[in-house]
Amino acid sequence: MAYVIPAPSLPALPVAGTHDLFPVRRVYCVGRNYAAHAREMGDDPTREPPFFFMKPADALQPIAEGATVDHPYPPKTGNYHFEIEMVVALAKGGRDIPVSQALDHVFGYAVGLDMTRRDLQDEAKQLRRPWELGKSADLSGPVGPIHPVSAVGHPANGTISLTVDDASKQKADLSDMIWSVAEQIAYLSTYFEIAPGDVIFSGTPDGVGAVTKGETMAGAIEGLGEIRLRVV
Ligand code: MN
Repeated sequence: MAYVIPAPSLPALPVAGTHDLFPVRRVYCVGRNYAAHAREMGDDPTREPPFFFMKPADALQPIAEGATVDHPYPPKTGNYHFEIEMVVALAKGGRDIPVSQALDHVFGYAVGLDMTRRDLQDEAKQLRRPWELGKSADLSGPVGPIHPVSAVGHPANGTISLTVDDASKQKADLSDMIWSVAEQIAYLSTYFEIAPGDVIFSGTPDGVGAVTKGETMAGAIEGLGEIRLRVV
């Protein structure tokens, strides 16, 4: 048997310091996981259960180490926002994973951006519609090289930051997360059977804002390097 059309290629992310690729199955994103960001969005930052949305796996934009890459401004928005996030790449799957075993499922960590058509997301919130038009634009998930746990361990603190044209926009510490990576994995695995190749965007700190064409975003996480994107 053969496919009746050309089979789409498997989305994949580079692994830092190697020529290897991490194949991507699903992309989960945690909403509202830093208290100060919840407040700036008008939400209550109390420790209510985490919530998740998804991006299509082919909405990831793999970013090579060191280069400044072009990031296309998407259509149908006038308020395109950056959200710097730590990305967690899973090597093992399962269901109902206990918090105490959750980190055993992680392959590695990377710097990512949850790019968001904020005007379309706000409209969806108001109209009680789903978030895809706001959150799932093509290439709306730039992700840098994945750093394996064997090299970096499990980053639980350290600076997470983003600049636009060298001006500081977001700056926080990974320890500011409301729900830890282990808790995110455990919680997610009660709703879905997670699997090797799944990645989780672990939420953004405060300071989100809009970019326009010509501006350069640089997102960094201590120990995980930096990604640089010029909006075109
Ligand atoms: Mn986000």
